[in-house]
Amino acid sequence: MGGDIYREDLERIALSVHVDLERFVTPNIFRTTRDVFKTLVATVLSQNTSDRNALAAYRRLEELLGDITPQGLAAAPLEDVEEAIRPAGMHKVRARKLKELAAAVLDRFGGNLNRIGDMSTESARQVLLSLPGVGPKTADVVLVNLGKSAFPVDTHILRIGRRLGIGNTYSQISGRIMSMLPPSEYLRVHLALIQFGREVCRARRPLCDACPLRDKCKYYASSGRR
Ligand code: SF4
Repeated sequence: MGGDIYREDLERIALSVHVDLERFVTPNIFRTTRDVFKTLVATVLSQNTSDRNALAAYRRLEELLGDITPQGLAAAPLEDVEEAIRPAGMHKVRARKLKELAAAVLDRFGGNLNRIGDMSTESARQVLLSLPGVGPKTADVVLVNLGKSAFPVDTHILRIGRRLGIGNTYSQISGRIMSMLPPSEYLRVHLALIQFGREVCRARRPLCDACPLRDKCKYYASSGRR
């Protein structure tokens, strides 16, 4: 499956879009804070919602706490956290999750998650996955932003990967793309593919006529438009 998609094809996609880092909540927060806990909070806020809503929720939480730290978040009243992160949606469940996360980081890591930056990818992944509310995708998003060897597959990348025949599942698509690229390119291509999914390879009515990979696309070939 997908044997005909190569690194240069991913590069063609990356070159066809403009990635504005301000509009991607996790890179935005990591680049401006260099703090793993804040990056993790931003990533949890972005689960099942848009980056714009997640960023609005993050800024409101920042206003509430002054600085987003495990100590501050664990001590903040649940109702205040719920109200602050309302723009992200599912604010009651998410607020409880965030407070559990903060308590676990305080309890088990003395409030300092930045040490995972110096760990191997696998060790850092195990630490992240051991925290409440952190699944494989959230862990991969944090890891790739830290410059580690991970390739998260969001809903856009899953759709593009399936349409192009790269794979069907998260792990197939993630693994195959990682095998095509040097690790230093993972974050750039990850963001470019998301942008491409937002603008061109949209869920409904993809703009195939503007797509640089149209001639290689299994979805396009089967759509009868060729
Ligand atoms: S040809 Fe259409 S469906 Fe295929 S990758 Fe391009 S935009 Fe997506």
